[in-house]
Amino acid sequence: TGFAELGISGTLLKAANDAGFTVPKPIQDQAIPPMLEGRDVLGIAQTGSGKTAAFTMPILSKIMALGTKRLRKTARALILCPTRELAVQIDEVVRQLSHHAHLSTALVLGGVSRGSQVRRLAQGVDVVIATPGRLTDLVRSGELSLAETRWLVLDEADRMLDMGFINDVRRIARATHADRQTALFSATMPREIEQLAASLLKEPVRVEV
Ligand code: AMP
Repeated sequence: TGFAELGISGTLLKAANDAGFTVPKPIQDQAIPPMLEGRDVLGIAQTGSGKTAAFTMPILSKIMALGTKRLRKTARALILCPTRELAVQIDEVVRQLSHHAHLSTALVLGGVSRGSQVRRLAQGVDVVIATPGRLTDLVRSGELSLAETRWLVLDEADRMLDMGFINDVRRIARATHADRQTALFSATMPREIEQLAASLLKEPVRVEV
Protein backbone atom coordinates (compact mmCIF):
# COMPACT_ATOMS: atom_id res chain seq x y z
CA THR A 1 0.00 0.00 0.00
CA GLY A 2 1.01 3.61 -0.45
CA PHE A 3 0.63 6.84 1.49
CA ALA A 4 -2.80 7.46 -0.07
CA GLU A 5 -4.16 4.42 1.79
CA LEU A 6 -2.80 5.88 5.02
CA GLY A 7 -4.85 9.03 4.46
CA ILE A 8 -2.31 11.31 2.79
CA SER A 9 -3.63 13.18 -0.24
CA GLY A 10 -3.24 16.14 -2.58
CA THR A 11 -0.14 18.32 -2.62
CA LEU A 12 1.42 16.41 0.24
CA LEU A 13 1.05 13.05 -1.49
CA LYS A 14 2.59 14.49 -4.62
CA ALA A 15 5.48 16.05 -2.68
CA ALA A 16 6.10 12.72 -0.92
CA ASN A 17 6.21 10.85 -4.21
CA ASP A 18 8.48 13.52 -5.71
CA ALA A 19 10.82 13.04 -2.74
CA GLY A 20 10.89 9.30 -3.48
CA PHE A 21 8.60 8.34 -0.63
CA THR A 22 6.22 5.91 -2.31
CA VAL A 23 6.14 2.87 -0.02
CA PRO A 24 5.54 3.75 3.64
CA LYS A 25 8.03 2.42 6.17
CA PRO A 26 6.64 0.42 9.15
CA ILE A 27 6.81 3.37 11.55
CA GLN A 28 4.89 5.44 8.99
CA ASP A 29 2.26 2.71 8.55
CA GLN A 30 1.75 2.68 12.30
CA ALA A 31 2.01 6.36 13.22
CA ILE A 32 0.37 8.25 10.34
CA PRO A 33 -3.26 7.02 10.66
CA PRO A 34 -3.59 7.72 14.43
CA MET A 35 -1.87 11.09 14.05
CA LEU A 36 -4.26 12.02 11.23
CA GLU A 37 -7.10 11.11 13.61
CA GLY A 38 -5.69 13.59 16.08
CA ARG A 39 -4.39 11.04 18.57
CA ASP A 40 -1.21 11.54 20.57
CA VAL A 41 1.57 9.11 19.63
CA LEU A 42 4.40 7.61 21.65
CA GLY A 43 6.92 6.20 19.17
CA ILE A 44 9.86 3.96 19.92
CA ALA A 45 12.03 4.21 16.84
CA GLN A 46 15.65 4.66 15.84
CA THR A 47 17.21 7.08 13.41
CA GLY A 48 16.91 5.61 9.93
CA SER A 49 13.45 4.16 10.58
CA GLY A 50 11.67 6.93 8.69
CA LYS A 51 10.29 8.52 11.87
CA THR A 52 10.79 12.06 10.60
CA ALA A 53 8.28 11.66 7.77
CA ALA A 54 6.03 9.65 10.13
CA PHE A 55 5.40 12.68 12.33
CA THR A 56 5.88 15.37 9.70
CA MET A 57 3.34 14.16 7.14
CA PRO A 58 0.25 14.16 9.40
CA ILE A 59 1.11 17.56 10.86
CA LEU A 60 1.71 19.11 7.44
CA SER A 61 -1.50 17.53 6.21
CA LYS A 62 -3.43 19.25 9.00
CA ILE A 63 -1.66 22.59 8.63
CA MET A 64 -2.22 22.61 4.87
CA ALA A 65 -5.96 22.46 5.58
CA LEU A 66 -5.75 25.71 7.57
CA GLY A 67 -5.74 29.18 6.08
CA THR A 68 -2.59 31.20 5.50
CA LYS A 69 -3.44 33.81 8.11
CA ARG A 70 -0.88 33.53 10.87
CA LEU A 71 -0.56 35.55 14.06
CA ARG A 72 2.67 37.45 14.52
CA LYS A 73 5.39 35.75 16.57
CA THR A 74 3.53 32.46 16.79
CA ALA A 75 4.10 28.95 15.44
CA ARG A 76 1.38 26.46 14.59
CA ALA A 77 3.65 23.45 15.12
CA LEU A 78 6.88 22.92 17.05
CA ILE A 79 9.32 20.09 16.44
CA LEU A 80 11.87 19.95 19.24
CA CYS A 81 15.03 17.88 18.89
CA PRO A 82 18.41 17.57 20.66
CA THR A 83 20.99 18.68 18.10
CA ARG A 84 21.63 21.12 15.28
CA GLU A 85 22.42 18.27 12.89
CA LEU A 86 19.10 16.59 13.56
CA ALA A 87 17.20 19.90 13.29
CA VAL A 88 18.76 20.54 9.89
CA GLN A 89 17.74 17.05 8.71
CA ILE A 90 14.17 17.51 9.94
CA ASP A 91 14.01 20.90 8.25
CA GLU A 92 15.10 19.25 5.01
CA VAL A 93 12.25 16.70 5.22
CA VAL A 94 9.71 19.40 6.11
CA ARG A 95 10.85 21.47 3.11
CA GLN A 96 10.69 18.50 0.75
CA LEU A 97 7.21 17.57 1.90
CA SER A 98 5.81 21.10 1.92
CA HIS A 99 7.02 21.77 -1.60
CA HIS A 100 4.36 23.80 -3.52
CA ALA A 101 2.29 24.25 -0.36
CA HIS A 102 3.59 27.72 0.62
CA LEU A 103 4.11 26.86 4.25
CA SER A 104 6.52 28.95 6.26
CA THR A 105 9.07 27.26 8.46
CA ALA A 106 11.80 28.47 10.78
CA LEU A 107 14.91 26.74 12.02
CA VAL A 108 15.78 27.87 15.54
CA LEU A 109 19.25 26.75 16.67
CA GLY A 110 22.07 28.02 18.79
CA GLY A 111 25.38 29.00 17.25
CA VAL A 112 23.85 30.87 14.31
CA SER A 113 22.51 34.40 13.90
CA ARG A 114 19.70 35.15 16.34
CA GLY A 115 18.58 38.18 14.36
CA SER A 116 17.62 36.25 11.23
CA GLN A 117 15.59 33.80 13.34
CA VAL A 118 13.82 36.70 15.07
CA ARG A 119 12.94 38.30 11.71
CA ARG A 120 11.61 35.02 10.42
CA LEU A 121 9.39 34.51 13.47
CA ALA A 122 8.04 38.07 13.39
CA GLN A 123 5.34 37.30 10.80
CA GLY A 124 4.40 34.00 12.42
CA VAL A 125 5.29 30.62 10.97
CA ASP A 126 3.63 27.27 10.37
CA VAL A 127 6.41 25.05 11.66
CA VAL A 128 9.36 25.77 13.95
CA ILE A 129 12.11 23.17 14.15
CA ALA A 130 14.23 23.90 17.19
CA THR A 131 16.77 22.83 19.72
CA PRO A 132 15.74 23.61 23.32
CA GLY A 133 18.37 26.21 24.26
CA ARG A 134 17.81 28.86 21.59
CA LEU A 135 14.08 28.25 21.60
CA THR A 136 13.91 28.92 25.35
CA ASP A 137 15.90 32.12 24.79
CA LEU A 138 13.54 33.39 22.05
CA VAL A 139 10.42 32.50 24.05
CA ARG A 140 11.80 34.22 27.18
CA SER A 141 12.61 37.40 25.27
CA GLY A 142 9.15 37.49 23.71
CA GLU A 143 10.26 36.89 20.12
CA LEU A 144 8.08 33.77 19.93
CA SER A 145 4.88 32.83 21.70
CA LEU A 146 3.88 29.16 21.86
CA ALA A 147 0.37 29.98 23.08
CA GLU A 148 -1.11 29.10 19.66
CA THR A 149 1.05 26.02 19.10
CA ARG A 150 -1.32 23.08 18.72
CA TRP A 151 1.12 20.46 17.42
CA LEU A 152 4.17 19.46 19.42
CA VAL A 153 6.76 16.83 18.51
CA LEU A 154 9.56 15.79 20.84
CA ASP A 155 12.05 13.92 18.70
CA GLU A 156 14.86 11.80 20.17
CA ALA A 157 13.52 12.53 23.63
CA ASP A 158 16.05 10.19 25.27
CA ARG A 159 18.94 12.21 23.83
CA MET A 160 17.35 15.46 25.02
CA LEU A 161 17.26 13.87 28.47
CA ASP A 162 20.91 12.76 28.25
CA MET A 163 21.94 16.25 27.17
CA GLY A 164 20.28 17.82 30.20
CA PHE A 165 17.41 19.49 28.33
CA ILE A 166 14.58 17.80 30.21
CA ASN A 167 13.54 20.83 32.25
CA ASP A 168 13.65 23.06 29.17
CA VAL A 169 11.51 20.50 27.34
CA ARG A 170 8.93 20.47 30.14
CA ARG A 171 8.82 24.26 30.28
CA ILE A 172 8.47 24.53 26.52
CA ALA A 173 5.67 21.96 26.44
CA ARG A 174 3.82 23.81 29.21
CA ALA A 175 3.99 27.01 27.16
CA THR A 176 2.16 25.45 24.19
CA HIS A 177 -1.63 25.39 23.76
CA ALA A 178 -3.34 23.13 26.32
CA ASP A 179 -5.49 21.62 23.57
CA ARG A 180 -2.63 20.32 21.43
CA GLN A 181 -1.68 17.11 19.70
CA THR A 182 1.63 15.72 20.90
CA ALA A 183 3.99 13.08 19.54
CA LEU A 184 7.05 11.84 21.41
CA PHE A 185 9.68 9.74 19.68
CA SER A 186 12.57 8.07 21.45
CA ALA A 187 15.00 5.27 20.65
CA THR A 188 14.85 4.01 24.24
CA MET A 189 12.26 4.32 27.00
CA PRO A 190 14.04 4.93 30.31
CA ARG A 191 11.81 5.68 33.28
CA GLU A 192 12.25 9.45 32.93
CA ILE A 193 10.97 9.35 29.36
CA GLU A 194 7.99 7.20 30.38
CA GLN A 195 7.24 9.83 33.04
CA LEU A 196 7.65 12.69 30.59
CA ALA A 197 5.32 10.93 28.16
CA ALA A 198 2.77 10.25 30.89
CA SER A 199 2.71 13.93 31.82
CA LEU A 200 2.60 15.37 28.27
CA LEU A 201 0.62 12.86 26.16
CA LYS A 202 -3.10 12.15 26.40
CA GLU A 203 -4.02 8.47 25.93
CA PRO A 204 -1.23 7.97 23.41
CA VAL A 205 -1.13 5.29 20.75
CA ARG A 206 2.13 3.41 21.27
CA VAL A 207 4.02 2.52 18.12
CA GLU A 208 7.23 0.54 18.01
CA VAL A 209 9.44 -0.69 15.20
P1 AMP B 1 14.70 9.11 9.41
O1 AMP B 1 14.64 7.88 10.27
O2 AMP B 1 13.47 9.94 9.54
O3 AMP B 1 15.96 9.89 9.63
O4 AMP B 1 14.70 8.64 7.88
C1 AMP B 1 15.74 7.84 7.34
C2 AMP B 1 15.84 7.96 5.84
O5 AMP B 1 14.76 7.28 5.20
C3 AMP B 1 15.85 9.35 5.29
O6 AMP B 1 16.92 9.47 4.39
C4 AMP B 1 14.52 9.49 4.56
O7 AMP B 1 14.64 10.34 3.44
C5 AMP B 1 14.23 8.07 4.14
N1 AMP B 1 12.78 7.75 4.04
C6 AMP B 1 11.84 7.99 4.96
N2 AMP B 1 10.66 7.49 4.58
C7 AMP B 1 10.85 6.90 3.38
C8 AMP B 1 9.98 6.18 2.48
N3 AMP B 1 8.71 5.96 2.76
N4 AMP B 1 10.52 5.72 1.34
C9 AMP B 1 11.81 5.93 1.08
N5 AMP B 1 12.68 6.59 1.87
C10 AMP B 1 12.21 7.06 3.03
